[in-house]
Amino acid sequence: MRYFELRESTDATHWTGEFRAKRQWGLPGVACPTCHAEWSGVLSYPAVDLTLLPERNSFEEPRLEPYSEYARLATQVRPLLPPGAMLQPGCTFGPMGGTAEGRFGPVTVFPSWEIFLREDALTSFRARALRGLIPVQAELSFPAQGTEPLHELQLLPTGRLHEACLPAGRPPPCPTCGRQGFRMPSKRWLDVDSLPADLDIFRLENAVTLIIATERFVEALHTLGPSDVELLEVKAVPGSAHLPI
Ligand SMILES: [Zn+2]
Repeated sequence: MRYFELRESTDATHWTGEFRAKRQWGLPGVACPTCHAEWSGVLSYPAVDLTLLPERNSFEEPRLEPYSEYARLATQVRPLLPPGAMLQPGCTFGPMGGTAEGRFGPVTVFPSWEIFLREDALTSFRARALRGLIPVQAELSFPAQGTEPLHELQLLPTGRLHEACLPAGRPPPCPTCGRQGFRMPSKRWLDVDSLPADLDIFRLENAVTLIIATERFVEALHTLGPSDVELLEVKAVPGSAHLPI
């Protein structure tokens, strides 16, 4: 199986669509007592609904909190997550809501860690039985009536960048907040032993900003005509392989 990173289009945008949107809920960022970092990540679960949490108001204002308060709120969200899902400070929940204008292509990656499908693209992907599609309709208001809705895909963090492409001697993740203090390597490989066998699109748990798709997903994407997505093939090699290869 071949794998590809999906990214935001950089040099050529085929479509005019734009949106200004955010999610209703999120965990606060943290001021960590162990690694002393103040940070907030970009992980999101658009299909997770916090409406029934008694303390849902505590998830509405983006902010930094001491780690203990972050951990207390994270405990409330965990039962609502898909099995095996990870959390991190600043993690957001619920559909994107806001305003949009222009015309969107079949698939839009924007920003580089979120992916949106037009309704016809979702129908096409379902007909091709792509695995792991968890669509959530974005709550976007368009100036023109009758614009096709956009559906965001919820992506599970699973699979890993290969150890050999990560900086040697980097510190382990912070035992308290989980922060991984390494810069994204410019040359990347996937650890094939860590990749999910039943998903055609997912994130990486040690690099959650990267969207990874299988060649099945990319073949389906290519049948739809131009999209605002940039593709980069990324090799998947055994965890024990010596790199660079
Ligand atoms: Zn920390």
